[in-house]
Amino acid sequence: MITVTALPAFTDNYLWLLDAGGHAAVVDPGDAEVVRAGLAARGLRLAAILITHHHPDHIGGLLALAAETGAAVYGPRAESSKIKGLQHLLDDHDEVRLDALGITLQVIAVPGHTLGHIAYFEPTQRLLFCGDTLFVGGCGRLFEGTPAQMLESLDRLAALPPETAVYCAHEYTLSNLDFATTVEPHNLALAEEMARVQALRAAGVPSVPSTIAHERRLNPFLRARSAEVTAAVVAQAGEEASQKLGNPIEIFGALRRWKDGHRPRVR
Ligand code: ZN
Ligand code: FE
Repeated sequence: MITVTALPAFTDNYLWLLDAGGHAAVVDPGDAEVVRAGLAARGLRLAAILITHHHPDHIGGLLALAAETGAAVYGPRAESSKIKGLQHLLDDHDEVRLDALGITLQVIAVPGHTLGHIAYFEPTQRLLFCGDTLFVGGCGRLFEGTPAQMLESLDRLAALPPETAVYCAHEYTLSNLDFATTVEPHNLALAEEMARVQALRAAGVPSVPSTIAHERRLNPFLRARSAEVTAAVVAQAGEEASQKLGNPIEIFGALRRWKDGHRPRVR
């Protein structure tokens, strides 16, 4: 069995530490010191570093940790020119065998937030490490990709087994749920979820992981094809703009732009 631990970093990042039998892997080590402390506290040896995409808050500790520990470094081939120190370049459908931990991860290409973004899926325990693609109640900003790419990426993640645990890289849940409630003000499940997560956060407990089933129920970006979300996006766009919202990709793009301009009442 793999144990997964959240290592909080910066303002709202989670670096994910996986361990089994005294060996560890870390996903997106933005801060080397946070990982050092996490390993030391648990008496773990770092065997592998897994990178989802090239942003500094996900790779900042990579070189130092690799040099200190000799850990093998995995990351997206498509971003290898932007990430110094990658040793194993990964493409869609590749597998990452981590013998020290006794697991094999499947690589899923999820362009949108960045063009080469990948996610890692562990099929036995059903663990998904998805970086800045799918968040609890939301999705990553489209810095490099198109709405069509992100929608397809989220569709692939949504098709994973419903019980899959979703380990995303940021604690954005409350502001995401605030936006979700703006989109679907009459969705009672959202109001209940907001109260539940507010209690968790007040107690200092991460709201991550979620599950794929949970996200399919509540996350507006996985519900862009639903009658409720479609109607809300069309109403928000106004009569003239709504003429151009003819398919799920355009609805999804308008939903993402709506979120970009949304100022949450909570954080
Ligand atoms: Zn990012
Ligand atoms: Fe990030």
